[in-house]
Amino acid sequence: MSIRALIWNEYVHERENPVVAKIYPEGMHRQIAKLLGADPEITASTATLQEPEHGLTQKVLDETDVLLWWGHARHGDVAGEVVERVVNRVWQGMGLIVLHSGHFSKPFKRLMGTSCALKWREAGERERVWVVNPKHPIAEGLGEHFELENAEMYGEPFGVPEPLETVFISWFQGGEVFRSGLTYRRGAGNIFYFRPGHEAYPIYFNDDVARVLRNAVRWAYNPQADLRDPTEAPNVPVDKALEPIKIRGARLHADGEEGLR
Ligand code: ZN
Repeated sequence: MSIRALIWNEYVHERENPVVAKIYPEGMHRQIAKLLGADPEITASTATLQEPEHGLTQKVLDETDVLLWWGHARHGDVAGEVVERVVNRVWQGMGLIVLHSGHFSKPFKRLMGTSCALKWREAGERERVWVVNPKHPIAEGLGEHFELENAEMYGEPFGVPEPLETVFISWFQGGEVFRSGLTYRRGAGNIFYFRPGHEAYPIYFNDDVARVLRNAVRWAYNPQADLRDPTEAPNVPVDKALEPIKIRGARLHADGEEGLR
């Protein structure tokens, strides 16, 4: 049984910026799909902002085990309805991998509940990604560290909640450091934030980056059945209590009532 990964891309810079178009003539989503497709256990498909409902209909999301998210220039164009759909699927158990500038995407900010802000600098400097959690499944097959010769700098403080686990910390030539690989769980969904990816450099042609993405898809995948409705908040009537109980004191609500939101 293969893991159904969906790479979502706003697909803007590849069409509008000649530097990016040269690196990713088919779009970053197709390049990432190639990297994931090298794993026989992953089936990779793609969707873009320009498609109806951004390619993220309920049906498409229901048939997605792990969603990868690339956004940068058009975070604001992502419809609120689609954001809620994605968030609900994460709560149900769909995995989510947020790439690089996706730190400011609507789904990620909504799931983190914080600013998700960071420092940055575009100078093509060297990045050394340190594996700080060497037995973590996302770091499987990597050495102590790997390097990206040309990278955009992201620096701390990174405005995210304390993660479940820190897998990578990056050092940059200019001196900053950044928590480059962070895991979260929201509802039943596993979330991984992965920093490398700036589109002006061929980051998604790097073998170590490819390995991390494949590992992350496997890690984020939850083979158990999805939670049907994570927003459900049912009332349990007194006579349905597991042990016999009597009502004591006053009540605001009637048995079986829907309750307040
Ligand atoms: Zn960038």
